[in-house]
Amino acid sequence: MTMPFQNTYVNLPDRFYSRQLPTPVSEPALIRVNTALARRLGIDPDWLASDEGVAVIAGNRIPEGADPIATAYAGHQFGSFNPQLGDGRAILLGEVVDASGARFDIQLKGAGQTPYSRMGDGRAPLGPVLREYLVSEAMHALGVPTSRSLAAVTTGEPVYREETLPGAVLARVASSHIRIGTVQLLAARKDTEGLQLLVEHVIERHYPDLKDSENPALALLDRVLQQQASLVAKWQMLGFIHGVMNTDNMLLSGETIDYGPCAFMDTYDPATVYSSIDHGGRYAFRNQPGIANWNLAALAQALLPVIDANQDAAVEATRPVLERFPGYFLDANLAGLRRKFGLATEQEDDEVLAKDFLDLLESTGSDFTLAFRRLAELAGDTPAVSVAGLFEFPAGFDEWRSRWEQRCRAEDHPDRQANMLESNPLLIPRNHQVERAIAEATSNQDFTWFNRLCDLLVNPYHPDPEALALAAPPQPDEVVSQTFCGT
Ligand code: AMP
Ligand code: MG
Repeated sequence: MTMPFQNTYVNLPDRFYSRQLPTPVSEPALIRVNTALARRLGIDPDWLASDEGVAVIAGNRIPEGADPIATAYAGHQFGSFNPQLGDGRAILLGEVVDASGARFDIQLKGAGQTPYSRMGDGRAPLGPVLREYLVSEAMHALGVPTSRSLAAVTTGEPVYREETLPGAVLARVASSHIRIGTVQLLAARKDTEGLQLLVEHVIERHYPDLKDSENPALALLDRVLQQQASLVAKWQMLGFIHGVMNTDNMLLSGETIDYGPCAFMDTYDPATVYSSIDHGGRYAFRNQPGIANWNLAALAQALLPVIDANQDAAVEATRPVLERFPGYFLDANLAGLRRKFGLATEQEDDEVLAKDFLDLLESTGSDFTLAFRRLAELAGDTPAVSVAGLFEFPAGFDEWRSRWEQRCRAEDHPDRQANMLESNPLLIPRNHQVERAIAEATSNQDFTWFNRLCDLLVNPYHPDPEALALAAPPQPDEVVSQTFCGT
C-alpha cells in the first residue's frame, strides 16, 4: 500500500462534497518531500520521491484507497457572506491514520478545477506553494497547531496571473479541512439534518470527550472557542499575521490553515498588514483576536438550529457561551506573555509590564523576534548561539529592564532561561528570506535556498550556529511590505 487511506468524510451525504479527480499535468517534477511527516503518516518517503509518488502528488495517478473529493463550504470573505465557495483548486485524496491513532487529510492544492472553481483555473503558482510549505512547516516547528506540508511538485505547466508563472501542487496535511464555512454552508441551506451530521462527525473526529455532552453542538462551540483563542494567542506571541481570516479559512480543529498572504512581522507595529488585498486593514496584526471572535459569532449563529429547535431558546443558550471568547483569549494571551517574559507565577502587574515592553518595542521600532530572544538571553548566561550581535536594547529600555529583573527576583524559577529560550524563537521565516527562496525558484528553477530554509527552520528555538544569519532582520532594501494571495 502506498498511502494507507481510511476515509470517513465521504461517508457523509454527498451534498457535503463533489467527487472530483485531479486534472493531470504534463511534466511533474519533485520539489521536496517532508520525510519526517511522510514516515509519521505511514508513507514511505522514498516511494513519495519516486516517479510514482510524484505522479500522485501531481494528480496524474490516483493511489489505491483514495476517494478524491472537493469539499463544499460557504464563508464570510472580508465580512461579506458567500453562500457557495468550496475547494476550487484543492482535492482531498482521503484520510490516513498515524501510529498514535490521529487522523489526517491528505489534500492536493492546485490540482485542477472543481465544481467550486467559479472563474478560477484550479491551479497554484509556484511562489505561494513554496510560501505555504515553508511557513506551515515553520509554524509546526514553532509549536503552533497548523496544516502541514507533505510534498510539493512543479507541474511543468504555466499559470497565468498578472504574469506567467510556473505551476505547482502542494500536498497539504491537516487533521481535517472542516471550516466555520462548512457549518455556514449547511445553515444557509437550512439543512438542519446536515448540521446534525456534521456536528457528530466533528465531535467523533476531534473532540470525542464531548460525545456525551448534554448539548453536543453547544459543547462543540465552546471547545472551538477555546481552541481558536489558544491558536490566535500563539500567533500573537510570534508576530504572525494570517492575512485572510475569512470564516472559510478557520478550521474547527483549531489548526492554522490557508497560508496565502501571511507573514511574520519584523519591526513591531500592531497595525501591520501585509496582504495586498486587505485595503482596510481588517486583518491587521492587532485585529486578529477580534476577528476570530467575529468569525466565531458566525459559527455560533450557524449552529443555532442544532443547539435548540426553538430559535429564542437557542440564542439564549448560546449567547453566554459565545461571550466566553474574550476571556479565553485574554487568559491564553497573558499565559503566553508570562512564558515569554520568564514568569512562572501570576502577579497583578504582569499585564502592565508586558504592555510597557510592547509599547517600547513599538516606539523604538524594534524587531519583535530579536527583542524577545535577547531578553531570554539576558535571563542567564549568554548562550553560544546569541543574537547579541544583531540586537541590543537601546537605553530607553533601562527602566523597564530593572522592573522586569525585580519582578523575576520576586519568584523562584530555576528554569527561567531554559523556558524563555523555548518560548522566544531565534528563527522565524523572515519575509525577505521567503521571498528570496520564491524568487530564485521562480526565475531560475533554483531550489537551493528554499531547501536550506526548510532544513534550518526545523529548529527555531535551538538552532545551528550557521542559522544565525537567517535571524537578521531585513536590510532597508530587503524589506517586504506586501504579500500576495497568488490565487
Ligand atoms: P482563499 O482566499 O485561498 O481561501 O480562496 C477562497 C476561495 O477561492 C476558495 O473557495 C478557493 O478554493 C477559491 N480559489 C482560490 N484560488 C483559486 C483558483 N486558482 N482556482 C479556483 N478556485 C480558487
Ligand atoms: Mg481558503
